[in-house]
Amino acid sequence: MQNIIEAIDKLASEKPEAVAYQSETETFSYQILRQWSNSLAYFLNQHVAAEKPIVVFGELEFEMIASFLGSVKSGHAYIPIESNTPLDRIQLILEVAQPAMILSVLPWPAEIPLEIPVLTPTDLAEVFNSEQEPIELQPVSEDETFYIIFTSGTTGVPKGVQISHKNLLSFTNWDLKDFGIKTGMRFLSQAPYSFDLSVMSVYPALCSGGTLVPVEKSVINDFKKLFEFLPKLALEVWVSTPSFIDICLMEKTFDGEHVPSLKIFQFCGEELTRKTAKELLTRFPNAKIFNTYGPTEATVAMTQIEVTDELLTTYDRVPIGYIKEDTEVLIYDGDQEVSEGEAGEIIIKGPSVSKGYMHNPEKTAAAFFEIDGVPAYHTGDAGRLHVDGLLLYEGRIDFQVKLHGFRIELEDIDHHLEKVSYVKQATVVPKYQNHKVQQLVAYVVVNDNDFEKAYQLTKAIKEELGEGVMEYMIPQKFIYVEHLPLTANGKIDRKRLINEVNS
Ligand code: AMP
Repeated sequence: MQNIIEAIDKLASEKPEAVAYQSETETFSYQILRQWSNSLAYFLNQHVAAEKPIVVFGELEFEMIASFLGSVKSGHAYIPIESNTPLDRIQLILEVAQPAMILSVLPWPAEIPLEIPVLTPTDLAEVFNSEQEPIELQPVSEDETFYIIFTSGTTGVPKGVQISHKNLLSFTNWDLKDFGIKTGMRFLSQAPYSFDLSVMSVYPALCSGGTLVPVEKSVINDFKKLFEFLPKLALEVWVSTPSFIDICLMEKTFDGEHVPSLKIFQFCGEELTRKTAKELLTRFPNAKIFNTYGPTEATVAMTQIEVTDELLTTYDRVPIGYIKEDTEVLIYDGDQEVSEGEAGEIIIKGPSVSKGYMHNPEKTAAAFFEIDGVPAYHTGDAGRLHVDGLLLYEGRIDFQVKLHGFRIELEDIDHHLEKVSYVKQATVVPKYQNHKVQQLVAYVVVNDNDFEKAYQLTKAIKEELGEGVMEYMIPQKFIYVEHLPLTANGKIDRKRLINEVNS
């Protein structure tokens, strides 16, 4: 495949009635996907200045997918924003991104005053269904930015990772080749589109004539509904974080006997523990189970390994796998490559490495560089590369963590926590179990206040913090202290607190 947009449109010509998206209540064909995205592209071409990106606001609706494709067909990168994002965070994203337009698949929060034009859900539906005059379009191609995904930033301002058409193409071609995906399979679409894990469902499905099958948050949050729902979906390709499958495995009947359609499991985004991997092998003996690894900055994932009983007896941590063909991994100690087999920082070099963070030259320069003219990225992950090319993961070298698959910079939470009116100083640390973060613990020095009980204070702090950060970034436990420990050079000693909560 040479071009993502052309590949999806070709499928619409060859098999117009094939199902591109099927939710509980709605079914959309490839033909509709092409029609809607074309109508939107013609509209954007006439109404929106070139260059600037387009924000697409909603959850897992089909209109989100049609908006993504409409944007890139008209030459604009798109930025997915989940509708439950706190207003302050949306503001920060808009300040960085300076989008040309907002396509609101779900109603845009009225509290945000804007100069940027917003298409309401009704306007958008009208555009999709309108007869627009076909015009020559210049879709996003090569190194032009296809999408921008915002991730947690250490300064409290989210970083926009810019992924080009070339980056996405490199990822999608690999994903369609290395995992046994065949034409017309049914893919679980569970991760919000603002997380790059969702890309592992969207483009492999749409470029292989497959069907996206969304499982919305309202279902996930109601386990009874979720467990009734899952077997009915006839899913063939499962894409999720290990944390999500852990929830599903709570249901005893979630196995190959009751859900025989499942053939391929792809996990990414956080440690796949041996316990989860073992349970999956027992429950789904006829499926293929893959661990994959990669940061958003290198387009979703770039290593993979099939989990087998033998693998689990050989390694005490599930390896993150073999590197995709067009990419290279180097292990660095600072700026120097280490000797073979030694531990150090994982550096990714290849065509799926992003051009950097949007409008953020400082952070871009700190993490991205070139090796022999090829883009390279400092992952901040510690790892070890075996002689046979197998990559092993050994944690982080900084204070980024994964909680239930969500990527969080602890400094991002500290920053927003210290802005809370009751807080004088704060540091957040992770509590681990089996190499996975179970809980975030906040150590807080508070200002004088009138709360009688600590839980009342905690409730008030959590409420105020929730205005600035995503719900998953709110610490589960608060410990109130007189002062925070300092290192010899006067910085807050986070490592000491990490040892304290994990001892
Ligand atoms: P994200 O950008 O949200 O995809 O997060 C990327 C980070 O998640 C990586 O840098 C790793 O720290 C972690 N990660 C991703 N996949 C795995 C995996 N299979 N095992 C362990 N950690 C992972």
